[in-house]
Amino acid sequence: MGFTSIRGHQAVRRLLQRAVTHDRLPPCLLFTGPGGVGKRLTAVTLAARINCESRFDRENESAEACGACGACERIGRGVHPDVILIAPEEAGAIKVDTIRAAVAQAGYRPFEGRRRVVIIDEADRMVDQAQNALLKTLEEPPSGSMFLLVTARPHQLLATIRSRCPALRFGGVPVDDIVDLLVTEHGITRAAARAAAVASDGSVSVALEAESDEYLEARDSAAAALQALACARDPKQRLETAKTLVPERRGKKSSPAADRETLRRRLRAMAALLRDLQLVAAEGASSGLAHADLESDMRALARGFDAARSRQGFATVDRALNALSRNASPKVVVDWLALRL
Ligand SMILES: [Zn+2]
Repeated sequence: MGFTSIRGHQAVRRLLQRAVTHDRLPPCLLFTGPGGVGKRLTAVTLAARINCESRFDRENESAEACGACGACERIGRGVHPDVILIAPEEAGAIKVDTIRAAVAQAGYRPFEGRRRVVIIDEADRMVDQAQNALLKTLEEPPSGSMFLLVTARPHQLLATIRSRCPALRFGGVPVDDIVDLLVTEHGITRAAARAAAVASDGSVSVALEAESDEYLEARDSAAAALQALACARDPKQRLETAKTLVPERRGKKSSPAADRETLRRRLRAMAALLRDLQLVAAEGASSGLAHADLESDMRALARGFDAARSRQGFATVDRALNALSRNASPKVVVDWLALRL
C-alpha cells in the first residue's frame, strides 16, 4: 500500500509524498501518461496515505500508509466510505449521475478519514455533462475533499477541466523495474520477464497481460531470424527465413488476428534486439542493453550487424510494423523485411 511498492515514477512519488506530508495537496490533480504504468495505483496509494490512521511526523516525508489499520484495509478492499473510485461503466462512459452523486458527497465532511478522495479512473470517458457537473465543483472545491483524475488521454477532457487540475505526467516504467516486479511478485522466470518487459513499452499491465512465454518465444524467433539473415546473401534463402517469422496456423486457438499479434510481437522483439545491436556495435558496451541476458548472443550477431546495418534494420522493422498496423498482409510484410534487413 506504500509508495515504495510502486515501480518507477520516482519524481512523481516524491512530489506527492512531500505535498501530503506538508498538507499542500491541491483540491484536484490530473494523473496523465500511458496506460498500465501505475497511475491508478498511485492514486489509491495517495488516498491511503491521506487517510491511514497512523500519526505522521511532518519531518518525515517518506512516511507511508501502514497498510494494516482499519482505514488502509478498507481502502485496499475498495470499501472505505471516504475513498470513492469511479470508472467507466460497461458501456464505456462515465455518466453525469455518477459524477453528480460523487460531487454531492464531496460537499460533506469526510465520514471517518482526514480527507475524502474521489478517484476518477479513465476520466476522459466522462460524458460532457458529467465533466460540466464536475467543473462547477472544481471552481469552488470543498475543503474536505479532493479529486484525482486519471487518464491516458487528457486532451479529451474539456480544456476548462484541464486548466483547473495541475497535471502530473507519468512516463513508462523502466525495464528493470518491470522485470523485478514480474519475477518477485508473479513468479515468472527472469528470461521470460525480461522478454515481456522489453516488449511492453514501459507498461506493467501490457507485460502482465500476454503470457510472458509468448514474449520469450517471440524473442527467440526474432533472434534466430536475425542470425539467419546476418550472412544470407541469396534472396531465396532470405525468403525462407521470412517464413519462420509468420506464425504457423494450427489448432482452434489460431486466427488471423492472433497470427498478426504473434508477428507483431516478433517484430517488436526484433526491433529491441537491433537497438541492442547498435549499442554493442557502436560502443562494445554491455551496459544499457535491454536484453542484457543475451549479451554473448549479441556479440556473435554483431559480427553480421555493424552499427550502420543495425540502425537501418531498426528503421526497416519499424516500417514493417507500421505496414502491419495498416493491415498489410503478414506474408508481404515479412518478405519485404527479409529482403531488406
Ligand atoms: Zn494505515
